Amino acid sequence: MRCPSCGEDDDKVLESRAVRGGAAIRRRRTCLRCGHRFTTYEEVLRDSLMVAKRDGRLEEFSRAKLENGIQRSCLKRPISMQRIAYVVDRIIEGLESRYEMEIPAQAIGDAVMAELLRLDEVAYVRYASIYRHFENLEQFVSEVRALRERDRAAGAEPGAEEAAAAATAPSPAPEEEA
Ligand SMILES: [Zn+2]
Repeated sequence: MRCPSCGEDDDKVLESRAVRGGAAIRRRRTCLRCGHRFTTYEEVLRDSLMVAKRDGRLEEFSRAKLENGIQRSCLKRPISMQRIAYVVDRIIEGLESRYEMEIPAQAIGDAVMAELLRLDEVAYVRYASIYRHFENLEQFVSEVRALRERDRAAGAEPGAEEAAAAATAPSPAPEEEA
């Protein structure tokens, strides 16, 4: 790696550390000519990962779009941006391990739902109400009921009522299909 200070192309790695849950590697380097220390990041680069939409159209995969959809579902919830970035990393990682260049849009939506279910019930119900296109109150209630049953099975604290209250409050809608 070329030294940003003197331009010499000879350095030594002092430290390598996995960051963002292993999605990237941060390296601390020192120039062997002038001693300048600098940092590099290494991450997997995918070229033109595509999303296959329901109607068959292909669209370039956008991490930003996926992240925005999740951020909007997590609005005013106690979830840090860093946590969301980590969740997005994990979703992409999972999708990449299951698909080659083309990811069905539905697989992305399902992956987001699975992650949000573990992350925050309110965010989950908000996302589900858009993604699953609830057509009436009954569908919505049955989703919340299913969530509550999962809670009970897992022995977790009941949170579905809070989820229902927050999800029925007006909030900006996540984009369809994240
Ligand atoms: Zn140097």
